[in-house]
Amino acid sequence: MKITLVVLLFALTTQSLAQHGSVFPQPISVEQTDSKFVFNRRLTMDNTQVPAESFSYFRELLGRNSVYLEPSSAKEATIRLQQIQTLVYTEGYQLTVTNTGIEIQYSNYQSLCNAFQSLNQLILNPQELPGIRISDQPAFSYRGVHLDCSRHFFTIAELQKFIDQLAKLKFNRFHWHLTDDQGWRIEIKKYPKLTRVGAWRDSTLIGHFSKQPVEYEHQRYGGFYTQEEAKQLVEYARIRGIEIIPEIEMPGHARAALAAYPELSCTEKQLPVVGTWGVFDDVFCSQEKTRSFLKDVLDEIIEIFPSQVIHIGGDECPKVNWEKCPKCKTIMTENHLKNGHELQSFFIRDMEKHVNSKGRTIIGWDEILEGGLAPNAQVMSWQGVEGGIAAAKQKHQVVMTPTSYCYFDYYQSGHPSEPLAIGGYLPLEKVYQFNPLKGLENEYKHYILGAQANLWTEYLPTIQAVEYNAYPRLVAMAEVLWNQSKVPYPDFVAALSSYYLPQLQKDGVRFSTSFLDPKLEIRPYKTGVSYGLIKPVDGVVFSLNNEAVTGINIERTKQIQESRYLIHSTIGDQEMRVCDYTFTSHLALGKRVEFTTKPHEKYNHNGSLGLTDGVVGRKPWKGNEWLGFNNDTIQFILDLETVTSFSKIEIGTLNDPGSWIYRPEKYLIQLSSNGKKYKTVAKSSMNGDLIRVTKKMKARYIKVSIYNKELIPAGQTGAGFTPWTFINEIILSE
Ligand SMILES: [Zn+2]
Repeated sequence: MKITLVVLLFALTTQSLAQHGSVFPQPISVEQTDSKFVFNRRLTMDNTQVPAESFSYFRELLGRNSVYLEPSSAKEATIRLQQIQTLVYTEGYQLTVTNTGIEIQYSNYQSLCNAFQSLNQLILNPQELPGIRISDQPAFSYRGVHLDCSRHFFTIAELQKFIDQLAKLKFNRFHWHLTDDQGWRIEIKKYPKLTRVGAWRDSTLIGHFSKQPVEYEHQRYGGFYTQEEAKQLVEYARIRGIEIIPEIEMPGHARAALAAYPELSCTEKQLPVVGTWGVFDDVFCSQEKTRSFLKDVLDEIIEIFPSQVIHIGGDECPKVNWEKCPKCKTIMTENHLKNGHELQSFFIRDMEKHVNSKGRTIIGWDEILEGGLAPNAQVMSWQGVEGGIAAAKQKHQVVMTPTSYCYFDYYQSGHPSEPLAIGGYLPLEKVYQFNPLKGLENEYKHYILGAQANLWTEYLPTIQAVEYNAYPRLVAMAEVLWNQSKVPYPDFVAALSSYYLPQLQKDGVRFSTSFLDPKLEIRPYKTGVSYGLIKPVDGVVFSLNNEAVTGINIERTKQIQESRYLIHSTIGDQEMRVCDYTFTSHLALGKRVEFTTKPHEKYNHNGSLGLTDGVVGRKPWKGNEWLGFNNDTIQFILDLETVTSFSKIEIGTLNDPGSWIYRPEKYLIQLSSNGKKYKTVAKSSMNGDLIRVTKKMKARYIKVSIYNKELIPAGQTGAGFTPWTFINEIILSE
């Protein structure tokens, strides 16, 4: 991306910038004063007030803005620190710029880091600071970011840069996903094969999981962190006010460990470290021997990581092998466990007891609720917020990480040039709208510690790819976790563009500008559909063929017709994005559909026009454009307003098992001229992804019923859950 973002400072209206200043996340209270502090690139501080390593960190931080921090006596210091134990909020701070210097009142070390992060963002001009009084404190005590280092491996240097950026946004937890099916990444001295064998795979899937035929890159891939390196990273993060929470996955996602020690599985079969994505049936056996092994691993983990909380995974553990395994069956009988869920609960409780005996607490993904929650466990609610709410009601502490707001491996734009992602759709604005407390009654709200953005890396092979997916969405997440009441989204975006993106660019951090894409406002138009191009922020201009444009109208046609538009987004004279739109015109364009089965709120675009808006979902699926249903039967009626002749009906469906989206099994299409009596014109099993009826037909109403499997069958991704069904458009032509 070759753009000069500094230009934005001049292009955007200053009016909206007043709503969100240059400090991210926005402080709770900011007062401008008449003072002015002139410091000419040089600040001083009594360095005996902080540990030496912290002083050098603060110096490095300010140094990036060409401001030199030098040690001095307390009397001469221009940055004057005052530790006040009685500040009500830990991590809160006060920062005042007077004519003679900068006063910082803080409570603990993290709060001091927060104050320095704010100061560093205030110094846009390295000569002087305007008078200001900031009183600040976070809304949530847990402000986390998770990074999967198993699917892809990142070096310690890359992680340091990543953590530097988290500190800037005042995140205070880094959840380090260290083990999974595709690689074991942390040295365990008692079990050297975990890294000698488990850290390496022979091949890696190329392209998307759902792509057929499957293709692999046959190259050895892997890496691991020594305990010494991990300890150094813990210290590196601590100096920046961030605690690292390690995750050791169990009982599922264990293939890398089982490749090293097959005797820990139910079948004891020698299997390789996995080179593809998904959920695998071979998991840790629940036998005593395996649990002892995991306790040994946790003992070493506890030695490396001082965090109060240790993550034990707990998600996506198929129970098929347990149900066949004599060792697991014996444990079930001896402990009166009714099913696999109760066995998993038994497993996790045993781990919890061990971790608790070392004075630590476990946290796990929300599946640890199934079969009964371990008594002191914290829950990370990912499948939705329901797990978190249930745990809070059982008086357990919760970190919210629902896929719908927190999965930053999802697409942030439906633009065709977006790099490959796992699926899903999570634009910046949606992250900004996240409220971790939504749906909770007041009495349970204090069980929600905060929230976390998760970066799973199946499709993020490099740290640059991770950054692109992280930014600017992490900036929005930081606001969510810091501020209970945020400035309006357009003001946030204006400030982001003016102040934060230039900083990322200066720091060499990749980011996406997809939030500057026009938002399509689709309306029925007398003879078709009109697409209004809504600006996400003041100052953006859209143009088509070098002419400014605010909308596009498409006429209904008897034959299918595609038209393509390239919309350029510019700010000032800088081109920020080019958006490629293809609209499909046909006989039903702009006609209303009444849904008997409502699309799921996550994938419900354009309401009653969702299936006739001319925006036909493309493949690979990028999270938007398609309507998604989480029901085994889907039914809707298209109303053509008058009796109309046509000879072809087409409806596209999607098959993406990795995202639990399965092609439907069969369909039924019925026609009516009065909306009361319907006649069947097609009843068939699916043959490929397209529903297609070709014959001479005449009707006003078309009733479509689509049937999927009731539940995803065993052995397939998402087994036991209702499959998702995705359809793109009902296209009619003569
Ligand atoms: Zn077993």
